[in-house]
Amino acid sequence: MEFRELLQIESQHREGRARVIVIFGPPGSGKGTQAKLLRDLLKIPHISTGDMLREGTSRGDSLGAEVRSRMRVGALVPDETVDRLVDARLREPDCAAGAILDGYPRTVEQARSLDALLLRLKLDELVIHLKVDYTKVIVRIAGRRQCTRCGTLYNLVANPPKEPGICDRDGQPLVVRDDDRESVVRERLETYEKQTRPVLEFLAASGRKIREVDGSDASPAEVLERIREYMVL
Ligand code: ADP
Repeated sequence: MEFRELLQIESQHREGRARVIVIFGPPGSGKGTQAKLLRDLLKIPHISTGDMLREGTSRGDSLGAEVRSRMRVGALVPDETVDRLVDARLREPDCAAGAILDGYPRTVEQARSLDALLLRLKLDELVIHLKVDYTKVIVRIAGRRQCTRCGTLYNLVANPPKEPGICDRDGQPLVVRDDDRESVVRERLETYEKQTRPVLEFLAASGRKIREVDGSDASPAEVLERIREYMVL
């Protein structure tokens, strides 16, 4: 790392500006959409463990196969695998000014690892909890499409691409994710209730303020506005 870069990191830490924004919420709550809007607004990286895992599993080794089979049925990938990915990513120089975490932490164990990591990296944290009603989640996910190259998300009802099946940004084909089929979505919601919702209790019990944003009936731009109100605090 260059000296100038180190100085920049130092000053960001001194001013208390470097922080990780954790976007928390059930599948289909709009985490990915908001994380991408925040990335463009704040010019800090968007770290999606789901996207990282999907990228990793396109390589054909045995760990890839195990991760792929868990994701396909809506189960979580082992904590150590995800912790390692996030640890390495947050240490990269482009995260010195902060980052947006989407889909992590998803278990109490992961929340503990993140605590320790943020302490080591001297990063502050802001937790945003996107709340939505589950019947809406199922409808939303059924219409979800994603670009195979850049990961941009579309929704056939709320946010369709200009040309059906094609990404507005790079002209690549859009696909339905393997785990977006309805039976798998129900499984993912159950996994969320059992393993991920307790993270909220863990965070609250350890004294963290959780900023709640209701994402059920608002447009992505309105949800973003609500999140921004918390960012100035
Ligand atoms: P969603 O939030 O809509 O469920 P993601 O793309 O974040 O979608 O996650 C898809 C899948 O990737 C999850 O169902 C799970 O199998 C796996 N995954 C993502 N993040 C984690 C994590 N932090 N820990 C364990 N598994 C994860």
